[in-house]
Amino acid sequence: MGPPGAGKGTQAKFVAQHFGIPAISTGDIFRANVSEGTPLGKEAQRYMDAGEYVPDEVTNSMVRNRIDEPDAVPGFLLDGYPRTLAQVEELDGMIGFTGHRLDAVVVLTVDDDVLVERLLQRAAVEGRADDTEDVVRRRQELYGEQTAPLIEVYRDRGLLIEIDGLGEVDDVTQRIFAALDVIPES
Ligand code: ADP
Repeated sequence: MGPPGAGKGTQAKFVAQHFGIPAISTGDIFRANVSEGTPLGKEAQRYMDAGEYVPDEVTNSMVRNRIDEPDAVPGFLLDGYPRTLAQVEELDGMIGFTGHRLDAVVVLTVDDDVLVERLLQRAAVEGRADDTEDVVRRRQELYGEQTAPLIEVYRDRGLLIEIDGLGEVDDVTQRIFAALDVIPES
């Protein structure tokens, strides 16, 4: 977890690689569907472009299908899901069914000013349609309203690991590995 621009996608790939499990990013799956022009992509695009969350039913069934894929059987890392309390409940139901359990919830914390700076930089490099200033502001607002409350839910369950997301990418990765108590590959 972490606000837009915290570095979730970047770190998710390193952690998943380390454990040999897929990094499942709802944002990436939505973007792939948008660029392929699938019905799911058409449905998701209008929400994403406005910085709104895609409706829970759409996102939930997408994640449900994804974690049913064979590569996710040994385990998986979710990036960008769950983002609402309803999604937390859905996820509990899904993994109750598949027999998985949550090992940890990693939250990347980053100062607001740094976030805006990173996102504007990403906009210049990647040209993501939802990295304009107004849309970024809306995404940050939604994160605060709908997603930040999940932090307390997972803290109460004893799963929360808070990581300082400031600094070099490598340093952040090392902090995550240290907190997850694994030895990083050299
Ligand atoms: P970021 O977290 O940096 O905003 P993501 O790539 O994770 O970017 O998500 C981009 C967009 O995809 C979100 O703004 C939202 O519209 C949609 N999205 C991704 N994950 C979810 C989710 N779990 N629930 C609803 N919408 C989602």
